[in-house]
Amino acid sequence: MPSFWTQAASVFARYGTTASMEVVTGTACPCIAGRGAYSPEWHRLNPAAASCAGTGLISRTTTTTSIKAMFYESGIAGDEIRRNFSQEIIGQVKDTDVFMIGTANASTGAQVTLSADANITIGSNKYKVWHISNLMTGDVSAQWAILRRLT
Ligand SMILES: [Zn+2]
Repeated sequence: MPSFWTQAASVFARYGTTASMEVVTGTACPCIAGRGAYSPEWHRLNPAAASCAGTGLISRTTTTTSIKAMFYESGIAGDEIRRNFSQEIIGQVKDTDVFMIGTANASTGAQVTLSADANITIGSNKYKVWHISNLMTGDVSAQWAILRRLT
């Protein structure tokens, strides 16, 4: 039997929707030190410091990857997700959110590990990765995620 990922990858390659994933990496901005989140106050007190533009990262690099995954309107899975996961863990699932199962690199078929806060563009709509869960722990064969609609 082929590995679970090999099976998942062939499904994504054949039936998956192509989307674009943007991951921003960089150096942690001093404004997040001690609180783990962007601080407009720190920037007001340190006007000469490099701007992180609200991202908490300076010297930012954006990597865009073409991916294939399965996407469902949350209306299909939302009630099930709302019943099984507490709001404290995943936040409130909105009807405009998208449930995603993936993810394969569209050109190589290699497994793509989702990162929190990645932006995913499906068609003309932009989403932020909101919650990620692994399908099978250890040898992860796929991941599902909730994407929050931005535009
Ligand atoms: Zn900053």
